[in-house]
Amino acid sequence: MRSSFVKILYSIILTASISTLVGLIFKSNFWYAFSLTTILQVTGFSILNQIYSNRLMQSLEAVRADQVREQNRNYTSVECPCGHIQSVDIRFDIKTVYVCDKCNNQVSCQPSVKTFLVTSPIYFGKDNEEH
Ligand SMILES: [Zn+2]
Repeated sequence: MRSSFVKILYSIILTASISTLVGLIFKSNFWYAFSLTTILQVTGFSILNQIYSNRLMQSLEAVRADQVREQNRNYTSVECPCGHIQSVDIRFDIKTVYVCDKCNNQVSCQPSVKTFLVTSPIYFGKDNEEH
């Protein structure tokens, strides 16, 4: 809280100093040059700030899209012992325990991997392409 107040005070002093300097250069029209420089600084800063925050928002959206893509990659349909089927985020590095939507019980998942021999003329998915 205090540091943001100091920052605001610092920018006001900096803006006023630059405006005073420009005003001193045009001594005959000091207040005219002072006001014009202040307005230019404030508008310039808001435009730059807008561009910066737009870029920030764009990169944030890109990161969110990546996150959603990564999360969806591991979702798979599993069947609870009660028979209810639901989509669960399966992880291979830790034990996956989810709560069934229907019976409200905690269910532990154990993923198993099946292996098949790759036979060249029939199998086309060698390079992990997404179809
Ligand atoms: Zn269940």
